[in-house]
Amino acid sequence: MMDIFNGAREAANPSSFTRRSFLVKTSCFGASYAVAKLIPMPALGAELASDSRVSPTPIVDKGFASVRKIGNGLYATISDPSKGNTTICNGGFLAGKDGALLIEGFTTPAGAAFQMDALRMVSQVPVKGALDTHYHFDHSMGNSFYGANSVQLWAHATAAKRIVENYAPMQGADKAAALAPYEKRIKDAKSDAERAHAQSDLNAAAGVFQVASATVLGLPNHPIDPAKPPMPIDLGGLTAVIESYTGHSGTDMIVRVPEQNVVYTGDLLFSGWYPVCFDEKATISGWRDTLKKFAAFDKDTLFVPGHGQICGQEGIVSIREVFDDIAGQAEKMYKAGVPAEEAQHRYAVPDKFKNFPIFAWGFTIGPAITKLYAEWQAGKS
Ligand SMILES: [Zn+2]
Repeated sequence: MMDIFNGAREAANPSSFTRRSFLVKTSCFGASYAVAKLIPMPALGAELASDSRVSPTPIVDKGFASVRKIGNGLYATISDPSKGNTTICNGGFLAGKDGALLIEGFTTPAGAAFQMDALRMVSQVPVKGALDTHYHFDHSMGNSFYGANSVQLWAHATAAKRIVENYAPMQGADKAAALAPYEKRIKDAKSDAERAHAQSDLNAAAGVFQVASATVLGLPNHPIDPAKPPMPIDLGGLTAVIESYTGHSGTDMIVRVPEQNVVYTGDLLFSGWYPVCFDEKATISGWRDTLKKFAAFDKDTLFVPGHGQICGQEGIVSIREVFDDIAGQAEKMYKAGVPAEEAQHRYAVPDKFKNFPIFAWGFTIGPAITKLYAEWQAGKS
């Protein structure tokens, strides 16, 4: 049977972790269909609302996303998936005197077009390029808009390959067959928790399938060798720097504007949400190291996360606490000899994070725990 969602299944079944999965690993954010629908985007935090860089009102607000000025020539596109799936992820753009840089391909070409229109409300400079911060579907399924408009599309050197590997097999695939392993997990669940987790994973996988199977794929045509960054981009009186970090997807790039202390992090930062960790190239230790580096950025840094509201350093503190909590609970179970396949379902969300959206268990907490177990086991041998 065609198994196009191997990634999340492996996360749910760590004994198959070493099995080579040659078809497709599914991507993050399908679960937004399940969960984020119910959770509207919180308003800007009080400190940010009074930050002189951040405009109190957006230049455009379509519900599914709004665009706000956050610096000199800097704009953030913040999505609210509870109000539609046109964009799902956050992004933004930078406009200097000579050129502009767009960030993200979003979930649909209409999402990429929305951001381009917003750029044209404030600047007519030529677009130097658009950057997918990583290959995941909610950041890349709108890429064909850039192709149709002759905008160079930049991304990590392996992003194009991974878009093809992950999403092309869903096209023309039978939906029922693709989702059958998820249905089976619901049927075979040994506890209510396991059943609920499996159901959230099914909803997520169905959402990804729906988008990927309906999309004309657009591939980045300007690969960035991850050894090259930091890569300065001169936009005319405004210099952006593209940097490469590990953690979320194996293809993660950020855009940093050091002169204004603004950073577009892609999914290396989930602001006020549980982080999506299922990717085969996601590394929990690598991601936590990256967050430590972000924490060492200037104390007045403004972060545009991949998902969730714009934040300052408190957003980095918060996601690090989430990782600490997952790792703390997992370590206790690991030391007590609880097997990974059981431990991944036993994590208890503390009060402190009870309002943090969990897109789907098997895309966030489950794989974080099985990956931590794998790291500890590897460290032991
Ligand atoms: Zn992602």
